[in-house]
Amino acid sequence: MQRVYLGLGSNLAEPLAQLRGALAALAALPQSQLVGTSSFYASDPLGPADQPRYVNAVAALETALPPLQLLDALQAIELNQGRERKAERWGPRTLDLDILLFGDLLLDEPRLRVPHYHMHARAFVLYPLAELAPDLRLPDGRALPDLLAACPFEGLERLPE
Ligand code: ATP
Ligand code: MG
Ligand code: MG
Repeated sequence: MQRVYLGLGSNLAEPLAQLRGALAALAALPQSQLVGTSSFYASDPLGPADQPRYVNAVAALETALPPLQLLDALQAIELNQGRERKAERWGPRTLDLDILLFGDLLLDEPRLRVPHYHMHARAFVLYPLAELAPDLRLPDGRALPDLLAACPFEGLERLPE
């Protein structure tokens, strides 16, 4: 089993319900166990500013699925929840499921890069992740507390339960 951290995001079609639906789908994945969920956070959009704010969270999974099979399963959940892929980068979406970390794996393939290439700079990833694993160290040696110190809690709002 590998410990995997996933980033969840939504800014269309009732984002809170989208994230709850995604968590239920993650809990039902084969050969896997959902072992942790962060609080939900509202965040300012990355990229185009003319879109609604996001709701984000991070989930922890124990899985025996190989990395690309997990990615397939995550993309199936995205599609099942109405994700449309448009040309615009970082445009609005019903659901985004990104693999942040897959155990200590370092992978740089076109379909899958882990650690997620931009997680170190995203407050909406780092702060929820810190709820689940405050002392986490990335496989390349970077420590989460150091990343947090360099990433202001800006544009982020922790939502009540
Ligand atoms: P970003 O990756 O900057 O957060 P995004 O999540 O909006 O952008 P998507 O449109 O969801 O990007 O995904 C584009 C492609 O990224 C996917 O088809 C997938 O194959 C690839 N990809 C590479 N690394 C990862 C990863 N760690 N998690 C999820 N998808 C990844
Ligand atoms: Mg993403
Ligand atoms: Mg994505």
